Amino acid sequence: MTDSFSNKRDVNELGEFGLIDHLTKEFTTNNPSTILGIGDDAAVIDQGDHLTVISTDMLVEGIHFDMMYTPLKHLGYKSVVVNLSDIYAMNAVPEQITYSLAISNRFSVDALEELYAGIFEACKMYNIDLVGGDTTSSPKGMTISVTAVGKTTKEKIAYRGGAKPGDILCVTGNLGAAYLGLQMLEREKQIYLSNPGIQPDFENQDYVIGRMLKPEAGKAAIEYFDKVNMKPTSMIDISDGLASDLFHICKQSGVGAYVEEGKVPMHPDTETLALKFNLDPITCALNGGEDYELLFTIAEKDLEKVKFMPGVFLIGEIIQASDGIKLHTTGGNIHDIKAQGWNHFDADEDKAAKQN
Ligand code: ADP
Ligand code: MG
Repeated sequence: MTDSFSNKRDVNELGEFGLIDHLTKEFTTNNPSTILGIGDDAAVIDQGDHLTVISTDMLVEGIHFDMMYTPLKHLGYKSVVVNLSDIYAMNAVPEQITYSLAISNRFSVDALEELYAGIFEACKMYNIDLVGGDTTSSPKGMTISVTAVGKTTKEKIAYRGGAKPGDILCVTGNLGAAYLGLQMLEREKQIYLSNPGIQPDFENQDYVIGRMLKPEAGKAAIEYFDKVNMKPTSMIDISDGLASDLFHICKQSGVGAYVEEGKVPMHPDTETLALKFNLDPITCALNGGEDYELLFTIAEKDLEKVKFMPGVFLIGEIIQASDGIKLHTTGGNIHDIKAQGWNHFDADEDKAAKQN
């Protein structure tokens, strides 16, 4: 038997992005059709007259979703949407998905039908085709892996690395709601676990919970860019939080940025709930993940076009790298923005076991 565990180095030392870099640094591309491999929301493949973009995401029970409060239909829908979000983030149109599933015998046919009802609804909503996948048994829980394929052109494709000083920083919708939705669900779960007789109190929290359980992807934004014949200079989807995803844009573009606190959009329910949980609303908007809005930059010449974009907010500006990544607070102060994001390895069972 091979022993992959002696002499082991902890993956937490590297973090998610450090680990990916570490494992893939020796890989170069061998095919000229591979325009872009690892490092953006999706890989980019040259097809001659157009580009194919491909993205994969995995969702693991206990890490990305909790069966205690995640309806399977919503899970099916969300698992597709989070992948489409990465395709839209390249300014591409998703067309196909494959769907792979590892399941323990805890899941009945009826339960899986529910999951697939959600997948079906997402395919219909976003006009995409389920074209394959894989199904296997698992000793424990459910793991989902979705691959999405989309189409765009060399003229339209938007990378993380194209932002320039003077560009305007924009976001397609309000932030922090999904994070507060998760806090609500977690709180009610704990109350239920300590006293199963108590019914959950979700009154007036439909909005934030909906943003957590059933997010939508940036289809409308991509359609708008096409309609007004413009493209962002850079783009990313906000899966890990505004701060973390802005860092990716700044790092890959070799620029800095500032965000104006007063311009960061938040739903009133997000603000109210943040205060109820003793959290600073702007911290939730900057670091809460899973909103799946698009964060993008535009050249100043396109400002008139973006001003009329439905639901869009102009939240800051791109500056020189040496000027850093800053928050201009409503009180007139300037703070560094730190990329906290999510580190899924923190929730790793192994680590939890070590701590216990
Ligand atoms: P996103 O948050 O947009 O889904 P990720 O942060 O998951 O993107 O991934 C960043 C980049 O690293 C992507 O290009 C992705 O394809 C790549 N990547 C992630 N995990 C691996 C892996 N295990 N092996 C190779 N590439 C990976
Ligand atoms: Mg992404």
